[in-house]
Amino acid sequence: MSGGEPDVADPRHPVPDREPLLEVSDLETHYPITRGFLRREVGRVRAVDGISFAVGRGEVLGLVGESGSGKTTAAHSVLRLEEPTGGEIRFDGESVTDLSGGALRSFRRRAQLVVQDPNDAFNPRLSIGEAVAEPLALHGMADGDRRRAIVEDILERVGLSADDADRYPHEFSGGEKQRISIARALVCNPDLIVADEPTSALDARVQSDVLGLLEEIRREFDVSILFISHDIDVVRRFCDRVAVMYLGEIVERGPIADVLESPAHPYTRVLMGSVPSLDPADRDLASPLTDTVPDPAEPPSGCRFHTRCPELIPPADVDVSADLWERLAAFRFTVAAGELPPAVDPATAEGRIDSATVREAFGLPERIPDESVSRAVDAAVDALGRGRHEAAADELAAALPTVCEREAPAESTHDGRPVRCHRYDPSVDATPRLGADDAS
Ligand code: SF4
Repeated sequence: MSGGEPDVADPRHPVPDREPLLEVSDLETHYPITRGFLRREVGRVRAVDGISFAVGRGEVLGLVGESGSGKTTAAHSVLRLEEPTGGEIRFDGESVTDLSGGALRSFRRRAQLVVQDPNDAFNPRLSIGEAVAEPLALHGMADGDRRRAIVEDILERVGLSADDADRYPHEFSGGEKQRISIARALVCNPDLIVADEPTSALDARVQSDVLGLLEEIRREFDVSILFISHDIDVVRRFCDRVAVMYLGEIVERGPIADVLESPAHPYTRVLMGSVPSLDPADRDLASPLTDTVPDPAEPPSGCRFHTRCPELIPPADVDVSADLWERLAAFRFTVAAGELPPAVDPATAEGRIDSATVREAFGLPERIPDESVSRAVDAAVDALGRGRHEAAADELAAALPTVCEREAPAESTHDGRPVRCHRYDPSVDATPRLGADDAS
């Protein structure tokens, strides 16, 4: 979303009844990779790479993506628990990007974090009352009786009892500890809660209780929530809008109902395909070409999702069916990732790896009508038979070029929603000629 205004203020994507509370523009958090005695910088992990979004007052925005997508780094960067390397964060109309000292503490009182695993969130030597009161003391409330009264009240409001203040963390279940974490986040009366996978360490029933509690809190306290999750089904139940992250970038964002009803980005469709409860029978949901998530230190060129995208755009002059194109793309990128089926992996194959075995393992037909593709597949099959998977990947890369690998997609609009995919860019020919089904 680089270069654009945050989406609450974006006329293409208005949230008319809500003022923005948090506005994030072109946020970057990169980590240097250093080597040698002098710690010379040799590269950068682009954990968060130019994302923009906004959270309205009283709104819940879901930030969803697989592990490694950068969403937790984004959450911590927003709270300045990690230092961003670029971009701007505005909170209640003021920039917080360069705050320090008392001003930063004051911001952190108004913007609180709920962590993923409540078992790591408490000092075992502090009573629950002391733990929940800690932020009050930290922010200058010296009166112990007053702190105690506030803590007892907040514990009751999250479904625990006032007497629980005198008990210790080990006396509580995981779900109760997460309630206590939420109480601690609420005790300073924040405007924003950043909830980082707050239910993923809990079993399904407790998960539902904690989501119910967050929903009540949101209504009762009119608090905004940035809700981080890898689980699009949890986001569906709880969020007003969603931003989908992949390898440090936001690839699609919009109202939750719109995104889930008609996901525009191929990665969103893949994420939805991984959720059985969304009934894949009713939808045309996709699987990724490979399970290998690239290293954020070396993100793929062009569209970062191209190595896994089941809707990869074929070159205009390749004359094969859509079905065969997908199999060829899967062949190319699984081989490049070294994800070899056991029958063609020299470490596990029994006997000689012949051409028929390779073709069967990747669902490739004997005959491919496009001559240059056919020659490249023959050469790749031959290289794999000789145990040279990198040479096979090189043959396929040269024969199957794609705009998705060459060029990074700019942000386009689909149904009024921002999406980063060449398929929505009118200047890219995403529908080149594909022959009749010749893959049988
Ligand atoms: S730009 Fe290409 S690779 Fe990226 S999501 Fe769109 S179709 Fe897939």
